[in-house]
Amino acid sequence: MIESAHTDSAINIMPSHPHPLASKLPKVGTTIFTVMSRLAAEHNAINLSQGFPDFDCAPELKALLAQHINAGRNQYPPMAGIPALREAIADKIATLYGTSYDVEQEITVVPGATYAIYTACAALIRPGDEVILFEPAYDSYAPAVEVHGGVPVYLQLRYPDYSIDWQAVQAAITPKTKLLIINTPNNPTATVLSAEDLRMLEGTLSNTNIVVISDEVYEHIVFDGHQHQSVARFPGLAERSFVVSSFGKTYHVTGWKTGYVAAPKELMAEFRKVHQFNAFVANGPLQYAFADYMKNRDAYLELSAFYQKKRDFFLDGLKGSRFKPLPSRGTFFQNLAYDAISDEKDTDLAVRLTKEKGIASIPVSVFYRQPPVHRVLRFCFAKSEATLAKGADILSQL
Ligand code: PMP
Ligand code: GLN
Repeated sequence: MIESAHTDSAINIMPSHPHPLASKLPKVGTTIFTVMSRLAAEHNAINLSQGFPDFDCAPELKALLAQHINAGRNQYPPMAGIPALREAIADKIATLYGTSYDVEQEITVVPGATYAIYTACAALIRPGDEVILFEPAYDSYAPAVEVHGGVPVYLQLRYPDYSIDWQAVQAAITPKTKLLIINTPNNPTATVLSAEDLRMLEGTLSNTNIVVISDEVYEHIVFDGHQHQSVARFPGLAERSFVVSSFGKTYHVTGWKTGYVAAPKELMAEFRKVHQFNAFVANGPLQYAFADYMKNRDAYLELSAFYQKKRDFFLDGLKGSRFKPLPSRGTFFQNLAYDAISDEKDTDLAVRLTKEKGIASIPVSVFYRQPPVHRVLRFCFAKSEATLAKGADILSQL
């Protein structure tokens, strides 16, 4: 639970044992992903809750990792990441988004996107600084802000298209606004920002010193011919942004926890001051493997088609169901509204479906401070067709 409005719910993600020292994060309990995956395991349910593939990564990637480990590349890599990987990342960004980042000073390989966001917050936020977030917000953002004394300023994405009200963004900016965090393709809404959105952001921030953290971990998973709008495409944004991505989503290796950050050198210098005393480096052997594997551009260029097929397979299985699919334009999530099925809270329904029907999902209300009126469950379709068929079958009977 995130706020008192959730306290009578079947899902308890609130802290249960207050520590005698005043908590820096009094409202934070256990992340919903841990809660739902644990519940799914306990009840042997199909787990479409936490976002991770139920299939393996490419055998070539595993072979490369083994090769580098066996070749003895097992000591600390350079603090910013091995040069070959930083070069591959810079090349990819320049090719896809048209901005050149300096390999020495502007790209850093990190132990995952969560870490990157946290470290950027640690590097920039002073107590009382305001950080604009959009609700529903991925659950690591607000704690990463608050633990450093920052104050989240929440704006609502407009249901059901989850669009941004740019006038509200303009109105939310104060002299204390230090940061703004965006996420496209978006978790949990599965929407993408348009070029027009990014131009609005560019214009809105143009006379400010506000820094952007742009969480783009699903950059290679965009559907129906849409194009990923990285902040790196927009000079007025690139010059003030940390672009964050993760190899976990792109290469089906969420457990490898490796990602990267690109930012102008002044911002990156501050980021590295913290990074060198936080993790210091990201895992070394994995970096050699990713550097080699990134030469295979198809692996990420074909990812959108791969996941679009899974989305469509899942949706096909839901034809005739009483769930109402919301548009999924990117990520590997499909949101389903259930007004025709139940008037339960999404937190209660998610638990009941896991225990009684054997299918686990994520209740979207946990990504809000106060549960919204509309009720939606999030399902992960990064699964084999067999799993998706079973899941859709259960859901169609409700
Ligand atoms: N941001 C978003 C929006 C995510 O969905 C996730 C992971 N699922 C992350 C960040 C974290 O990525 P990583 O595992 O690389 O820390
Ligand atoms: N980002 C993944 C999701 O949304 C989960 C990552 C995690 O468990 N921290 O499901």
